[in-house]
Amino acid sequence: MAADVLCEVNNCKYWEHGNKCAADSIYVVSHTGKKAEKQEETDCKTFDPGV
Ligand code: SF4
Repeated sequence: MAADVLCEVNNCKYWEHGNKCAADSIYVVSHTGKKAEKQEETDCKTFDPGV
């Protein structure tokens, strides 16, 4: 389990100063199904623009 999540997406409603994520948990998905070959193929599905 990840104790800390660092994130640079500062327009997400869970983002806090210091690149912290304040969500209770996050859900990471792959663009290409259940596997990924590169970092660029993954994303945080918990992202919420808050608007
Ligand atoms: S929910 Fe995802 S996108 Fe939003 S701050 Fe946390 S890690 Fe970043």
